[in-house]
Amino acid sequence: MNEMKLSKRLLTVVKYIPKEAVVADIGSDHAYLPCYCILNDIANGAIAGEITDGPFLSAKQQVEKLSLSSLISVRKGDGLEVIQKGEVDAITIAGMGGALIAQILESGKTKLVGKERLILQPNIHAYHIREWLYKEGYTLINEEILEEDGKYYEVLVAEKGDKDAAYREIPIATGLFVGPFLAKEKNAVFIKKWSRELEHMQHIYQQIAAGASKTENHQKLIELSERIEMLKEVLKLG
Ligand code: SAM
Repeated sequence: MNEMKLSKRLLTVVKYIPKEAVVADIGSDHAYLPCYCILNDIANGAIAGEITDGPFLSAKQQVEKLSLSSLISVRKGDGLEVIQKGEVDAITIAGMGGALIAQILESGKTKLVGKERLILQPNIHAYHIREWLYKEGYTLINEEILEEDGKYYEVLVAEKGDKDAAYREIPIATGLFVGPFLAKEKNAVFIKKWSRELEHMQHIYQQIAAGASKTENHQKLIELSERIEMLKEVLKLG
């Protein structure tokens, strides 16, 4: 992967950046995504945000090497603190866990003015992000699931709007857990991912159920069995 040839995962993120947007890529690492967007005339300007010294330096070097410093501003800081209010039209946060992405959005929400499209790519636990979007009044406008190098990735696209719009045809708890668009499309990757997940949960359930019965395990078993039933229903298993 480099600034001209992105991974399938990052290309899926880029697909949802509005044309001529100013985009902030938070946790940009090598800044491949912003560089690709500028070199391919997708974005008019970009910010690459990084919290860690190493990736921040590599982003800076990458942008300088390509002589893109006038169009891509590389900034060091935690999450959305690197952007000014109203400065960007789109924000991408990719390649992290869903809990961390949701936490970055929560800590930085005062920076959001409501015009920003959020394009979020969690490696795991996307439901943390859906829950945050729902709580904050964002409408989920699309989702994708893809497999690359044996791993499953989800991409969630949201804008400020009707938080319930995406959840009219699915029970809300199920929609938040597996994704309303993904559950509707139910493609081969979705089925593969959630079938494996279901097997894993059933295994854990049996292990806990066979162990010493404790009050905290009782609650855990209830939660697990709710999720197992949810997945069986989505996958239409008996
Ligand atoms: N976004 C790139 C991608 O998808 O290929 C890089 C993903 S890399 C696994 C995650 C990056 O996020 C790391 O470089 C890390 O330093 C950065 N990061 C983690 N927490 C952050 C935060 N709160 N603010 C900014 N960057 C953060």
